[in-house]
Order: sequence, then structure tokens, then C-alpha cells
Amino acid sequence: MARIAIGGFQHETNTFSSISASFADFEAPDAWPGLTRGGAMLEAVTGINLPAAGFLQEARSLHHELVPLAWCSAQPSGRVTRAAYEHISALLLEDLQRAGGVDGVYLDLHGAMVAEHVDDADGETLRRVRALVGPGVPIVASLDYHANVSTLMARAASALVSYRTYPHVDMAECGAQSARLLQELLGRPRPAFALEQLDFLMPLTSQSTLVEPMSSLMDRARRLQHAPLLSVCLMPGFPAADVADCGPSAYACGFSDAAAREAVADIAREVRAREHEFALELYSIEQAILVTTRHAAPRGRPLILADTQDNPGGGGNADTMSLIKALVASGSRDVLAGVICDPEAAARAHAAGEGALVELQLGARAGTTGETPLAARYKVLALGDGRFTGTGPFYRGGRFELGPMALLEVGGVRIAVASRKQQAADQAMFRHLRAEPAEYAVLALKSSVHFRADFGPIASRILVVEAPGPNVADPAQLPFARLRPGMRTSPRRR
Ligand SMILES: [Zn+2]
Repeated sequence: MARIAIGGFQHETNTFSSISASFADFEAPDAWPGLTRGGAMLEAVTGINLPAAGFLQEARSLHHELVPLAWCSAQPSGRVTRAAYEHISALLLEDLQRAGGVDGVYLDLHGAMVAEHVDDADGETLRRVRALVGPGVPIVASLDYHANVSTLMARAASALVSYRTYPHVDMAECGAQSARLLQELLGRPRPAFALEQLDFLMPLTSQSTLVEPMSSLMDRARRLQHAPLLSVCLMPGFPAADVADCGPSAYACGFSDAAAREAVADIAREVRAREHEFALELYSIEQAILVTTRHAAPRGRPLILADTQDNPGGGGNADTMSLIKALVASGSRDVLAGVICDPEAAARAHAAGEGALVELQLGARAGTTGETPLAARYKVLALGDGRFTGTGPFYRGGRFELGPMALLEVGGVRIAVASRKQQAADQAMFRHLRAEPAEYAVLALKSSVHFRADFGPIASRILVVEAPGPNVADPAQLPFARLRPGMRTSPRRR
């Protein structure tokens, strides 16, 4: 039995977003728990598809004594404020210090956190934890599929483990793997590692492991992970980050320097050979409406429009209305859209009551350039308190707290509205408002890829639509200034 500290600090930072992540954002629960410490932390994460939860379960079955530190996450947004980063970093270190001697440390990190004052915030967190526990204590960190991995992160940790799926249905499994890996490192020398940062940015919507090329590239990484190697990862990175370590990377660690280097070189070579397959396929709103009007969705198999650029899972605000306006204007019927974040509209709908008609200026509150609300008379079809549990493979077990919610109808379009922003990646977000997604002809979802886990199986066709929003789908359109030399902002086409 070993004493193992467990903590977490997750944020995916879109440095092009002007809305920063404050300490209050980390304190508030969403689909995942708010900031939690001590024994309460162990309870708060249990049962959710989260790395910390998978780690806990596995470490318990290995009969380790668990020492809980702080755990928190905030919705993707602009940089984490200096105050929030320093406060949470201090909590983690304070809890670790108070724990006394530990035999190992596990951290549930994202890998693409950027703070106001530190570009490589996850590297800095690992560096501080390493400085506190010393060189001999193994530190294992799990990372998101979208981690922008730095040399500092790889050097400060004993081992890194990342998700292998996008949609991330294996977050808990990644935590469990981290526990097994930490077990192997107890009492052993620090493993060797190899890291290769690749030289082109991969658009998010081209990264899904449900389709090629990532499907077979991930299989390749998985197959390379065997003794003497402990972890072999391909991380496509989070492209909306103007920092030197932004971009895809291949990582391996284990008890053979040569094997780690070979595995990483193998993955990097294969990614380069398939670079052209990462080129984007996007539909304009006009093209999407044209397809919508011609597409005859079989019953129970809607057409899905992914409103990717306003995906709150990538730093969007879930309130741009251009795609929904076009659907209303085109006279489309049986459309279900959302989830729009508009606390004021939700409050007005609650005040009016189910069945009432309300005049609303819906959406466009975050000030995205050129966006205006959809002013109309809406029928309030259903109301909810925003508290429900995720049922899909991605948000499984997540205890949502989205504040007052409403299902509003205008023309042939029904719009789910919430008081807090959350990526539309779980059918429970609509069922909470008595709307069954499969019964609609068209779904317009504020999500880039994660929706595919729960909605993919019911879709007759999926289009990724380039409607306005801060989560720019094509990294080549972003005004980068700090990428490393030689980095290309879009994949080469053949
Ligand atoms: Zn991710």
C-alpha cells in the first residue's frame, strides 16, 4: 500500500477569446463539480466520466491510501486570470504540503491551460509540484486529447497519459490507466521520455477519432504502447492558442530511451504522411440551408448541423443566432436547436410560464461581431431547472447545473435555452425540456465534435457549419504571433 496524492486543475484556453477564466469560474459547478477539496473531492468526482474518477476507482482497487488535494475545472475560455491561477496553484501545493510525505502524486490536468502571466500553465503546475515533492517521487499526469504538450510538462512529470478518443468517452479510463502506471513507477527509477512536437495545426473538426485519419492513427499509438514502454500518446493539440507549444505532439515514456524515441518517430512519420487528410470540410450557412431543404431525413434519423464556431467547449459563448435565424427564415420545420445561453430569456420564459407567448430578444449577448438577437414572439413549450444527469457516453454521470432552462418555439424551430453555457453534447440537455432529439428532422447543435458520441448514432448526415462565433474552425484565419518557428496554421493539401 502506498500513500498517493490526487488533485486536478483543468482548463482549455482559447487565447483569442477576450473572456478570461476567473476564480469564480473554477468554483462554479457545470456538468462537472465546482472547486472541491479534501474528502468532499473524492465524493464529488465519483461516478463521472472524469480522469480523477477513473484514477480513484483503480487506485482503491490497488489498495492505496488516497490523499485528496484540490480538484477544479472551468469552461473553456480566454486566459486564466493570474489571481485564479495563483490561488488554485497555492491550494494544490498547500494541500500537498499538509499531506506530509507521499509515495506518488497523480494530477488530472488538461494540458492546454494558458494563464495571463504563464503561457505554459500546466508545465508550471507540474514544475511547482515536482519542486515540492523532490526528484524521487513519481508524478503521473493525465492530459486531455487537446493538450499542447511542452518539454517542461514532459520533464517535470514522471509520466504523461492522454485520452485516446474524441469525443472523449475514455476520460475515466485514462485516469484508471494513470493509476496502473503510477503503481508501476513506485520505487523505481524515473523512466525515459521522448517528445516530438509536430509542425502543423490540426483543425478541431478534423480530429475526431470516429473518422479517419485519427481513427487508425490512434490505433497505431495504442499498439505501440507495450513493454518496455509505459505510455505512448498522440495528442492533436488545441489549435486556438497563440503560444509556442501550441500544436500536435507525440509522446512516449518507459524504461528504454531508444524505444521511446522510436515510438515517437513512428507516430510523427505516420501523421506527416497523412497530413492532407486533416484538411477542413466546412459548409457555409447558405450551403447548409440548401442541404437542409433538400435532405429527406428518414424518421428518427435527423440531419445534424454542427454550429462549431460558437461551441462553448472551445471557447464560444453559445449565443450566436445566425444559423438559427437562417433556419427560421428558410421556413424549415421540425428543427431542434441549442443550447443557447441566455439567462435573461430563460428568466422571462419562467416568469411567463409554460404555454405563454413572450416577446424576446434571444441570444447575441456576448457581443460577437455582427451578431444580433433573434427578436420574435416565442411560445414557451417547456421549462426546467437545469439540474439533470448526463446520459450519453461523453457526459456520462455528469450532474448538470445549467440554471433555469426553457424550450422556446418560433416558426418550425424549437430552441433550448439555458442560463449557463454548456456544449450540446448530451441528449439529456434536450430531454430535460421534454424534447426527444430523434423525433426532429434537423438538429442544430452548439458543438464541434463531442456531440458525435451521443448524437452520431441517430444522425442521417452531419454537416460542420461555419456560422459566426469566436471558436474559429480554420486555425489559418487566426492572428497568430507566438507560434514556434516553422509551424504551419493549416494542414497541407495534397
Ligand atoms: Zn478535449
